[in-house]
Amino acid sequence: MQSVVPFHSGHAGLKQLLGGKGANLAEMTNAGLPVPPGFTITTDVCRSYYEAVMQLPAGLMEQVHQAMRELEQVKSQGFGDPIKPLLVSVRSGSVTSMPGMMDTILNLGLNDETVQGLAALTGNPRFAFDCYRRLIQMFGNVVFDIETYQFERLLHHLKQRLNVSQDSEVSAEGWTELIGEYKAVIRKEAGREFPQQMEEQLELAIEAVFRSWNNARAKVYRKVHQIPDEQGTAVNIQTMVFGNMGSDCGTGVVFTRNPSTGEPVLYGEYLMNAQGEDVVAGVRTPVPIAKLGEEMPLVFDQLMRTAEKLERHYTDMQDIEFTVEQGKLYLLQTRNGKRTAQAAVKIAVDLVREGVIDTGEAVNRIEPFHLDQLLHRAIDTDKPLHVLAAGLPASPGAASGVAVFDADTAEAWARAGHKVILVRSETTPEDIHGVLAAEGVLTSRGGMTSHAAVVARGMGKPCVCGCEALRLTDRAFAVTTADGETVTVREGDALSIDGATGRVILGEVSLREPELTGELQQLLAWADEIRTLEVYTNADTPEDAAKARSFGAEGIGLCRTEHMFMSAERVPVVQAMILAETAEERAEALAKLLPMQQEDFEGIFRAMDGLPVTIRLLDPPLHEFLPNMEQLVVERERLNGQADADPDRKERLEKLLRKVRALHEMNPMLGTRGCRLGLVLPDIYEMQIEAVFRAVLSCLREQLDVRPDIMIPLVGHANELQRMRELVTRKADEVLGEFARTFRYRVGTMIEVPRAAVTAGDIAQHADFFSFGTNDLTQMTFGYSRDDAEGKFLTHYVETKLLPDNPFQVLDRDGVGTLIEWAVERGRAAKPKLKTGICGEHGGDKQSIFFCHAVGLDYVSCSPYRVPLARIAAAQAQL
Ligand code: ADP
Ligand code: MG
Ligand code: MG
Repeated sequence: MQSVVPFHSGHAGLKQLLGGKGANLAEMTNAGLPVPPGFTITTDVCRSYYEAVMQLPAGLMEQVHQAMRELEQVKSQGFGDPIKPLLVSVRSGSVTSMPGMMDTILNLGLNDETVQGLAALTGNPRFAFDCYRRLIQMFGNVVFDIETYQFERLLHHLKQRLNVSQDSEVSAEGWTELIGEYKAVIRKEAGREFPQQMEEQLELAIEAVFRSWNNARAKVYRKVHQIPDEQGTAVNIQTMVFGNMGSDCGTGVVFTRNPSTGEPVLYGEYLMNAQGEDVVAGVRTPVPIAKLGEEMPLVFDQLMRTAEKLERHYTDMQDIEFTVEQGKLYLLQTRNGKRTAQAAVKIAVDLVREGVIDTGEAVNRIEPFHLDQLLHRAIDTDKPLHVLAAGLPASPGAASGVAVFDADTAEAWARAGHKVILVRSETTPEDIHGVLAAEGVLTSRGGMTSHAAVVARGMGKPCVCGCEALRLTDRAFAVTTADGETVTVREGDALSIDGATGRVILGEVSLREPELTGELQQLLAWADEIRTLEVYTNADTPEDAAKARSFGAEGIGLCRTEHMFMSAERVPVVQAMILAETAEERAEALAKLLPMQQEDFEGIFRAMDGLPVTIRLLDPPLHEFLPNMEQLVVERERLNGQADADPDRKERLEKLLRKVRALHEMNPMLGTRGCRLGLVLPDIYEMQIEAVFRAVLSCLREQLDVRPDIMIPLVGHANELQRMRELVTRKADEVLGEFARTFRYRVGTMIEVPRAAVTAGDIAQHADFFSFGTNDLTQMTFGYSRDDAEGKFLTHYVETKLLPDNPFQVLDRDGVGTLIEWAVERGRAAKPKLKTGICGEHGGDKQSIFFCHAVGLDYVSCSPYRVPLARIAAAQAQL
């Protein structure tokens, strides 16, 4: 087995084996770009390493040494050679890029002897010792697991002693002193000397990089981005080039387009006289790339041309690491750049317009889940804002929450239900769990290409970074505003950030509704041309219906009528209806509800003029509209304890309590609800149906095109639907009068009880449509009560991989999916024109939408904000 692949033998197609970084370094090498030579140890080796319980496979190091000899020849240097030492980096590189989550060590090949050689060879001792101290720090951190601050602290003290602020101002003597101190840290913390033997350095470094695949932050990142744990990382060994050799050297990161907005301009940052880690780790705030055009015009020009070439080559926006050594440009990494949803959409549309990709490819490039971000609300600029300062706008979106100052607190507070803004001097990849928990991230240092910013963008979190005006102390920051006012923000204080402008704002801000941009409209229009699956929405109010329609909904798949019973002024009428003791009292209450419902339906029909509206008749059990029994008992105790309590009030309370007791159910989800309610107490359904058709009549008079679909919930037996259908027809005929013969409407059912799915052929005899209510269907198929499962045993199931996903989020294909397939097949066999759709939460989930397409449903229905996402996913399912 070939475990080691030189850059000149690989290519981009070998990503699974070489990891993204290795495959792309190979591809660039073969495209003739200036890449320092090196080789890749494959991801297979990583898997073997873990299978062998953290042992490098036998024979690997021989292959590595062989490859090292090749590098020595190319460079005319020797690994460990005291006169012409070869230096390499040992870099992680997984198949799916995980920016900064794993480890890399630079300047390997230095020891007490070779550092002298490097100093003599370059005539630059300051540079040589700078490399050495960096090596010891990275090695100590990555191989021996010594915390970075142990080193940073000493560096800080050194600079204080020397009275300098920049690393580049430290002299060779300064570095030598620090190296002594660093070695002492290694001795104390690792219990051994820093290894002087080259072979040992190399082997320890390789192993440590493999180990970093399983560090805590990499695990969290994989979980968030659903990257399989088995993938493993490659290790890249590459000869060093030096950005820290002097003032004609530097290092930086560029994106071929702005990853935040998608603007087609070179975007990035660099630092003169520095090594790569300084930029990507966010330790120093770097300089915008445009400045490089002034400082090194030739290099800048070459960089621009290379960026363009790489983008064309990969047909996508690239994120490129480069280093300039004595005026010469080298490329150290390229990958498809992480971007915000906004940028993703703009870039995809621009690439089509530039003729680089076609519309199908553009649609395919959008991660539907990310569209959620685009429909996030922005800060309402009409209200006055207490702006404290401005940093770099690293990831757009507005976020409000309480300030917290470390990742663990962010996680703990978020778990307790608080919205938090994570404030750090810089966020290192170790903070990833805090970033995940936070609404947004604010840093006082670090640039827009720092790992923190990249990770926040990838997660769609608003981020403001490099806000240097913040004076951070322990669990607080002080800032002097433009007006000269000094404000202190402490842990727990309300704070907002605007990732689109970089503003940091005191207190909470109000947000305004999102709109679809021109580019998104374009992309969605392309998706609409491709897809066959229709996209409906779940909406209960005219406002939601109109919103969803503006997002492209083609109908309402679920209008829940019980929500119309729940407003404050209606609850007493509903209660009066339930508590009525005589038929007259009951009829009276229902008569009051009728015009209210009618008005609701009219509003919705107007908003959906020309499109189908699926109205589900009352679904929940009646006691949901009554006060809770325990509260009533407490109230009775209280009244009984009062000698002067009003007897009328006592009597009303007793009556209420009797009714609540009578309606009490052991298991209400399986009790008198849905069509069972409609069959036992038909007058409520009659009122609802009457309201629907009265609304139809008045809309017809307004010349509207009304298309109601009446949906009966919780049917499990064909006879239930048959009787309900008779009820609908009778009431409709009664209300519609002369229109009854010509007006078309449909009657159908939800398929949400397993028996309904199994007997779908019989049920279809009485149905014009099936709508899969996959929330209940999942509950009943698994036998999990959703409220008792999520956050409890189900979390355990998913964490221990007993189940691949939460079945309430991602449709369970094997179980629930089989029922759906079966029901569609049987239903259509009985009634070829049967319309089918899905209206559970799953209607807004990409994988589930793919499933719905595959089994041939006519539509998916989801919440208004998910409609654009569903349009894209439906098109992707077609491609
Ligand atoms: P990460 O995945 O964390 O970005 P990298 O392996 O890309 O880790 O390396 C970290 C930094 O070190 C990057 O800025 C990279 O450009 C720089 N670097 C890596 N290898 C070399 C090398 N051979 N010469 C110069 N700089 C390097
Ligand atoms: Mg990198
Ligand atoms: Mg249901």
